[in-house]
Order: sequence, then C-alpha cells, then structure tokens
Amino acid sequence: MFKINDNYLKLPGSYLFSNIAKKVAAFQQANPDKEVIKLGIGDVTLPLAPKIIDTLHEAVDEMGKAETFHGYAPDLGYEFLRTAIADHDYKSRGCDISADEIFVSDGAKCDSGNIQEIFSVDNKIAVCDPVYPVYVDTNVMAGRTGTYDPKAETWSDVIYMPCTAENNFIPEFPRENPDLIYLCIPNNPTGTTITKSQLQEWVDYANKIGAVIIYDAAYEAYITEEDVPHTIFECEGARTCAIELRSFSKNAGFTGTRLGFTVIPKDLKCGDVSLHSLWARRHGTKYNGAPYIIQKAGLACYTEEGKAQLKEQVAYYMNNARVIKEGLSNAGFTVFGGVNAPYIWLKTPDKMTSWEFFDYLLEKGNIVGTPGSGFGPSGEGYFRLTAFGSHENTLRAMERIKNL
Ligand SMILES: *Cc1c(COP(=O)(O)O)cnc(C)c1O
Repeated sequence: MFKINDNYLKLPGSYLFSNIAKKVAAFQQANPDKEVIKLGIGDVTLPLAPKIIDTLHEAVDEMGKAETFHGYAPDLGYEFLRTAIADHDYKSRGCDISADEIFVSDGAKCDSGNIQEIFSVDNKIAVCDPVYPVYVDTNVMAGRTGTYDPKAETWSDVIYMPCTAENNFIPEFPRENPDLIYLCIPNNPTGTTITKSQLQEWVDYANKIGAVIIYDAAYEAYITEEDVPHTIFECEGARTCAIELRSFSKNAGFTGTRLGFTVIPKDLKCGDVSLHSLWARRHGTKYNGAPYIIQKAGLACYTEEGKAQLKEQVAYYMNNARVIKEGLSNAGFTVFGGVNAPYIWLKTPDKMTSWEFFDYLLEKGNIVGTPGSGFGPSGEGYFRLTAFGSHENTLRAMERIKNL
C-alpha cells in the first residue's frame, strides 16, 4: 500500500489569492455597474519585447530543419546563454562568476523550491517576514519546519526575521544560528532593499557561522539606487556562502515563457563536497532545463536592442510605481518601497488590519490590492500594491484614492 508524503498535509491552505478572488467576485456581482481596478497582481502585463519575439520565431524555424534542430539541452544550459549571463550580469559588475557556475532553469520559483533538496532536513532555515511564500512552503513539504501554529501563523522550526517600518525593513541577525538564510532583495512584497555594506555584513555573518545564503534577486532590474547591490557576489566572501537565484520573469516578461538561472560558485563547500557538484546531479538533463528556443530568447535579452527594449519596459512599470507612491503619499498614507522594486507597501490607516483595509479599498475605491498578512505575520497592518498594471489604470486608481 502506498503512503503519501504527509508533510504536504501540514501545509495550511493558501487562502490569500483564492480569498481575494472570492471577495472580488462577490463585490462585482453585487455592484455590476462598478469597474474594479486590479493593482494586486504579481505578474507582468506588457507583451514580450519585439527583439525577443523575432528571436523566438527564428529559433522555432531552426527546430524545423535537420541541420539546426536541437534535442535535449546541455545539463547546465546552453553555453551561449551562460556566457552572456556571466559577462553582462557578473563580470561587468566586477563579480568573479564564470559561465560554468551558472545553471539555466525554467524559473526562479522552481529553483527556489528545488534548491532545498540538496540540504539535510536537519538544517534550520531563516526567512525574512514578510516574504515570498515559496521558501517556507517548500521547506514544509521537505519536513524541515516543525509544527504550525495557526494563531501566530508561524512554524516552530523556522526562524522569522521581522522586516517592518520599525527596523527600516532590514532583517537583524537572529538570536539562534540558522543553517540556511533566505534573502529576497529587493523584497517581494515590501519593495524594500538593503545597501551593499549591509549585505556584506550578512555575508560575513554567514561565513562566520557556516550558513548558506539563498539570495533571490528576481527584482534586480528594478534597482535605481547606487548603493543597492545587484547581486550578492558584489560582496567579499560571497563565493563561499551564497547561492543566487535569478529570473527573466519580471525584467523581461518571461512569466509565461519560463526562464531563470541559479548561480552556485565552485568555492561553496560543505567539508569536501561542493554544492555545485550536488546541484549538477540534481539538475540532470531533463530536470529544470529550459528549451533551446527559450534560451535563445534569453540571449536576445542581452543584445543591445534587447537591453534597450527591456529597459523601456522596466521604466514603464517604475513610472507606475512612482505614480502610486506619490498618489498614496499625497493622500496621507505612509508608503514604502516602489523605488528599487515594482511593489509599493503601505501602512494601513487607522490601525485597520490588512484584510479590513482590503475590504475598505475594494468597497470605497473599487481597487484590489494584496493584504500584507498573506506574506507573513509581520505583514499584518500593511498592504501591497503593484506597478504591473496599465499606466492608464494606475492613474485612474490614484484618482480614486485621492477621493476616498
Ligand atoms: C516573481 C518572483 C520570482 C520569479 O519566479 P519565476 O519562477 O522565475 O517566474 C522569484 N522570486 C520572487 C521573490 C518573485 O516575486
């Protein structure tokens, strides 16, 4: 008789987005004349850039000819893409990362879920609170998180590092030493960042206590401030303590096309064992790969034309972020983020809970956002708006906020 992995049963239902959908549907049914503007989505909306589309067409045609057909992709990904990544994302920033330390994948969500498999279940994880829920959820499925306290919405074996207005959204070193530290910078959902010298302290700390930092830089392209690091490998000593996750989703619109990569430096070791060699095993030919066509499209992102087009897309979203940030500030809200990330994080007014504010905004402004409590207990009393909507709708939403 088969048995299931009962760690899956420990996962509390993901109420966040289904609850939002239910509430919005009920509101629309009751108010068919009202037009709801959605500023809650964590997905891009602009179409793929022309250079990417052209490249996709060419790559598809290559697949139809015997001379240029491609079967299984190489284990780590095509060298043309890994070399472009190493040159443009690392060497150009003075970071010592080579093409063979890059593992091309079908996205950072998958990698952030899968990467924990190379670590013992006995490892203790530390996460920023609030944060992207995938890190904790995948560790729950692996059996690394202890028991769930539904009241506190926390797991007994997870170290939570609160990131709130009180500490400027900068996590503090935990009292108890973690083995794996997840850092998402710029952060989803708060849109906040830390400086390079603050990240250096984390690298030094991880090296000192023998921990690994799993660094999610999915929003790197949105960084506008000088002193915010684009990669953890800008820090001294990161090669012995850090894994970096990157994605083409938010900077190039690949959320449906799927492409990302993970960097594991060869100096990252547990005793004699290199994590690079472990991940190469896990990766295999068929796991986590991205198709030839998509890797070619990824390469297009590094051409001069591609880079210019992507820069425009990021600027479009960041212009929305500026509009939201200004609109909310002018309306008297306390606002964070939105400068180095497409997310704006606001403090709910009048001590409303995150869900109370959700209802208020939907009913009074017909605007949908995301309750902060859905990203961790320290997100209670906060609310996330995203810059991924159309510019027109973003402007209209701010007009409504003004008149709340
Ligand atoms: C959107 C997002 C990703 C991207 O994941 P993909 O699987 O590459 O689409 C990764 N990390 C965070 C924090 C995100 O918000």
